[in-house]
Amino acid sequence: SMIKYNPPEDGEPIKVEGGVWQTPNKPIVLFIEGDGIGPEITRAAMSVIDKAVERAYKSSRQIKWMEAIVGEKAEKMAGNRFPQESVDLIQRYRVVLKGPLETPVGGGFRSLNVTIRLILDAYANIRPVKYMKGLESPLRNPEKVDLIIVRENTDDLYRGIEWRWDSPEAVKLRDFLRRELKVEIEDDAGIGVKPISKYKTQRVARMAIRYALQNGRRSVTIMHKGNIMKYTEGAFREWAYEVAVKEFRDKVVTEEEVSKGASQAGRLLINDRIADNMFQQIITRTESYDVILAPNLDGDYISDAAGALIGNIGVLGGANVGDTGGMFEAVHGTAPKYAGKNVANPTGIIRGGELMLRFMGWTEAANLIDKAINEAVNQRKVTQDLARFMNVQALGTKEFAQALTQIM
Ligand code: NAD
Repeated sequence: SMIKYNPPEDGEPIKVEGGVWQTPNKPIVLFIEGDGIGPEITRAAMSVIDKAVERAYKSSRQIKWMEAIVGEKAEKMAGNRFPQESVDLIQRYRVVLKGPLETPVGGGFRSLNVTIRLILDAYANIRPVKYMKGLESPLRNPEKVDLIIVRENTDDLYRGIEWRWDSPEAVKLRDFLRRELKVEIEDDAGIGVKPISKYKTQRVARMAIRYALQNGRRSVTIMHKGNIMKYTEGAFREWAYEVAVKEFRDKVVTEEEVSKGASQAGRLLINDRIADNMFQQIITRTESYDVILAPNLDGDYISDAAGALIGNIGVLGGANVGDTGGMFEAVHGTAPKYAGKNVANPTGIIRGGELMLRFMGWTEAANLIDKAINEAVNQRKVTQDLARFMNVQALGTKEFAQALTQIM
């Protein structure tokens, strides 16, 4: 193939082992430009991230960016959207800032996003949802929204282990259930299997708690429907609590312990809520929630519901993270109608970058980004998607990124 990679000589890979990140002062971080508006917003985000790092650490720390070629650009250069060289590169360096990638309809190949997730064994999907003044939220007090959804991403009904009602497998299963387990299932029922494992639950719980502690969050709420699905979602709840009190004993306190008089001071609160109640709570008592840890299917629903609380998809970032690396991105897609026009909002991928800095342990730089975004919006410096609601002149993608770096 035609792609040759030359890693920057003055950079070093980030080491991520067992979920613990060791970031050298000059880490090599991969970026994928992405398709559509991808190149514009990704470059804008890189400039903002670089500036934040410089402001926070002077010249003692610096990201050594290296491009991984994936998507349309790879198709043009190598005739393949995901060349083996790029797969190998991601295997090796394991930390990626990624622009949105088009998933062509039809064609019959696996989404590039899914492929990257598998390469990195990224089992957690993380989505911070934080309100900024000026967004058109459906809530009365949207400024209270500051949530982080941590969704388990490899287990549960989402694995898609299921059979059509009239398949031989479904017939066999119904027969087995009736004969061996005395469970009657209707003869016209399709069947899905919901595995939730202790190992997968505990690794994602560990990540959520570690992240919460490292970033000074107040609480981790375990979302589940364990009252009905006792041995899957109920077990998720139980196993997550177990990780909290066994592995983080001196740093956490459970709601039950607090109700019995334990002090919450200086500790991370661990509690749990039934899934349906969780939806009510994030709307009616938003300020009481912080990090929400959820199994795969619940997490899918609550991520979107939480996103809707702030009323704009263009400003949400997210990540897929595992014990050996992670991919950081915007939640939205390639917005083809805005491609190449310097109008797209880069805030989503900038938020993705902020999250990346938090995993890298570069919290000061991450905080600078958060502050700058809020300040810019406060000063009504925004791109066209927000400017139309604020009755102000819109900034271009580039100019908005420049405004952020000036504020820093
Ligand atoms: P989209 O997110 O690209 O667009 C949805 C709407 O939001 C459009 O009106 C778009 O113009 C607007 N929008 C999105 N991002 C914006 C931004 N930063 N600034 C201003 N407006 C913005 O979703 P879609 O149209 O359903 O998907 C388009 C392509 O993106 C598809 O090929 C899809 O597969 C891909 N996609 C990729 C990812 C990813 O890489 N993670 C995620 C979602 C969709």
